Amino acid sequence: MSTASSATTGGASGPPGTDVDAAVAALRQGLLIGLPTETVYGLGADAGNPAAVARIFAAKGRPADHPLIVHLHGADQLPQWAARVPDAAWRLAEAFWPGPLTLVLPRAAGVLDAVTGGLDTVALRVPAHPLALHVLQAFGGGVAAPSANRHKKISPTTASDVRDELGDAVAVVLDGGPCQVGIESTIVDVSTGGVRILRPGVIGEEELRQVTGQALAPVAGPALRVPGRMNVHYAPQATVVLVPEDQVAAEVHRWLAQQARVGVLSAARAPAWPAQVHWLALGGAPDEQARQLYRRLREADRLRLDVLIAVPPPDQGLGHALRDRLWRAAGLGDRLA
Ligand code: AMP
Ligand code: MG
Repeated sequence: MSTASSATTGGASGPPGTDVDAAVAALRQGLLIGLPTETVYGLGADAGNPAAVARIFAAKGRPADHPLIVHLHGADQLPQWAARVPDAAWRLAEAFWPGPLTLVLPRAAGVLDAVTGGLDTVALRVPAHPLALHVLQAFGGGVAAPSANRHKKISPTTASDVRDELGDAVAVVLDGGPCQVGIESTIVDVSTGGVRILRPGVIGEEELRQVTGQALAPVAGPALRVPGRMNVHYAPQATVVLVPEDQVAAEVHRWLAQQARVGVLSAARAPAWPAQVHWLALGGAPDEQARQLYRRLREADRLRLDVLIAVPPPDQGLGHALRDRLWRAAGLGDRLA
């Protein structure tokens, strides 16, 4: 699919407001926009327009039965999209919106099947990026937006990632700078009264427990239709191998012996690695690592690495979500405990 024009906005491209106006006009015409959010860039379409939503699936090359997240400008829109909003959902919305938390709720009558993938629930979020909020406010309706990458590829964290990946399938790409969070939202199912994490993110179990006052239900099994939980959802082209730090050097030598192009994703470069090893830095505080992770995976693609050897962070706090994304990049998906 292509559109008449492919504009990239932001920076010095026009007077303030122009970018947002162009994005809103595109949404009204049923076209796709690149929407900066604090998590990753979204591929946005009018959630009330079936032809527009169909364009998302065509552009991503994503199976049509995978549900999308609907982005709203405020929690006051919840009753338009959800048939029932349990207390826990209101509390979570109040505590974390705008922010990197997606709530799965029973769908309201009139929410398109194309958006929910035919499920009786709908996923809703108010993003924290000012440009996204401006677009959502000016547009007024819900914007269905999965991550703006091709199916099974790495989620984009800059406007140029979106352009590289989707080209002129997107009418307007708003440039909101690099994403502040860098990995996808925490998805929480509150459709049944309980509180259950479907996808880990920067908002963790402990915060959810504190706000809802509820123990969390066990994590969903692999049978659930949640693309974010599929194996190989965020994979770079390289084979991703996860090893403890003390085994990196041995792993490096094993792959070099097979003439592979080798990269290592780690906090520091070790003197024991030969010069031809590409070091992709991933260190610092966990939130900094989240911001960098997908950039590094994209770098692995650009370098055309055969193998990327990565050291998973400890399974604490945000480390849990980082491990989740690394496990998927390695094609191990639901083997994450
Ligand atoms: P993406 O932004 O590409 O990661 O895709 C949106 C995420 O929201 C996917 O992981 C979806 O499966 C998830 N999602 C959307 N709607 C629902 C729903 N009704 N129930 C469970 N997960 C959902
Ligand atoms: Mg995605």
